[in-house]
Amino acid sequence: MNSPQTFQKGGIHPHDKKNLAKSREIRNAVITSRCIIPLQQHIGSPPECLVEVGDTVTEGMLVGRSSGFISANVHSPLPGEVKEIKSIYLANGMRSKGIILEMEGEFGTLGKKQNEQSWQSMSPKELLDIVHQLGIVGLGGATFPAHVKFSIPKQKKVETFIINGVECEPYLTADYRLMLEKTKEIVEGMKILHKIINPDRMMFAIEMNKPDAIEIMDKALSDLDFEAEVVPLKMKYPQGDEKQVLKAVLNREVPSGGLPLDIGAVVSNVGTVFAVYEAIVFNKPLIERIVTVSGGAIKEPANLKVKIGTPIGALIEDCGGFTRIPEKIVIGGPMMGFTAMDLDIPVTKGTSGVLALTAKEVCGRATTGCLSCGRCINVCPMGLSPTRLFKMIDHGEYAEALDAGLMDCKECGCCGYTCPAHIHLVQAMKLGKFMSKKKKVKA
Ligand code: SF4
Ligand code: SF4
Repeated sequence: MNSPQTFQKGGIHPHDKKNLAKSREIRNAVITSRCIIPLQQHIGSPPECLVEVGDTVTEGMLVGRSSGFISANVHSPLPGEVKEIKSIYLANGMRSKGIILEMEGEFGTLGKKQNEQSWQSMSPKELLDIVHQLGIVGLGGATFPAHVKFSIPKQKKVETFIINGVECEPYLTADYRLMLEKTKEIVEGMKILHKIINPDRMMFAIEMNKPDAIEIMDKALSDLDFEAEVVPLKMKYPQGDEKQVLKAVLNREVPSGGLPLDIGAVVSNVGTVFAVYEAIVFNKPLIERIVTVSGGAIKEPANLKVKIGTPIGALIEDCGGFTRIPEKIVIGGPMMGFTAMDLDIPVTKGTSGVLALTAKEVCGRATTGCLSCGRCINVCPMGLSPTRLFKMIDHGEYAEALDAGLMDCKECGCCGYTCPAHIHLVQAMKLGKFMSKKKKVKA
């Protein structure tokens, strides 16, 4: 195994706070009698709704059909009756058509019975079709449709396939628990993806704060009949980001506006690899995922296997409720997650965590004027000047902000985290992107 490495430019070292949930084994979450299935759970065009009010659905039934190449199928997590179809809010504040389902009827054998045909006898195209049909998307947060990412154009060759087990966001331990508890299944998923993509080598990136995961995965990869190794990484945020992990592992940079494939690489989150395994081996659509429920205001932090569509309030109750009134509830990690507007927001394919944070954890101090200290510039992993971008956006100079690299901002939050004046830098970047799009501004 190589000695730990990391990316060079920028980054921060927030306290990882993973102790709250890291020792909690994955357990099944409560199944609620009512679930809310958003159709828009991925990057790309929303699927076409296939059900109507009054329809009966079975567990795993297709309820939303992908509407283009960059789109993903959506399946019902429960057997039940469609009670309502209406516009709902998602964690990021955007709206989506949502199917409100009331549980009714029996759960079948979905996910429990192996496919009769072994994956070894299937062609890469057949395997990719299953990934497409069963609605697999990237589970690291980006929710990019997996069949698109894994469709490698004939003229391209993948040199390195990186499995991303970095999980650098504080509090989150869902991927960590998966690596410890589903090691064999992840390795099987890697074999399936090796068959689909045929890379020269596979590399498994894990940060050093998970030494047991490094050890267990390292041992598990030793029997493979293709080149695969664990790459331990020094702890640094936002190393779990696709482009940062490529810099850390390969010391190579994806060109601005480009894709990892442009440098001969594909990166996939470890949760996605597990979902591919379940889809291919058990014919199981993406109807559940692992979610970390944590934070100082949660009574019993946990890593839960959750049906997509479960309201976050039910998960909090399942974890014993609050120890005190939280200052903020976050969906996702504390750095890149979204503040929950209410407890009815459903878990989607992209929900990695639900955090109830105390006032001390949130640290909401008043904003002052910029001190010109340059700290935000030093920590920006994309080499941007957040203070300069902030001023441009504040003055409505969107074209100038685009020229200065606004679209390269990955909204990682390093700048805002480090700013002694507590200026809302990330929020400004998001606003700048939104306004540039709305006003159709060009760089
Ligand atoms: S949020 Fe954007 S500007 Fe701020 S540090 Fe991250 S990439 Fe740089
Ligand atoms: S870190 Fe904050 S105070 Fe310092 S230059 Fe950047 S915006 Fe200004």
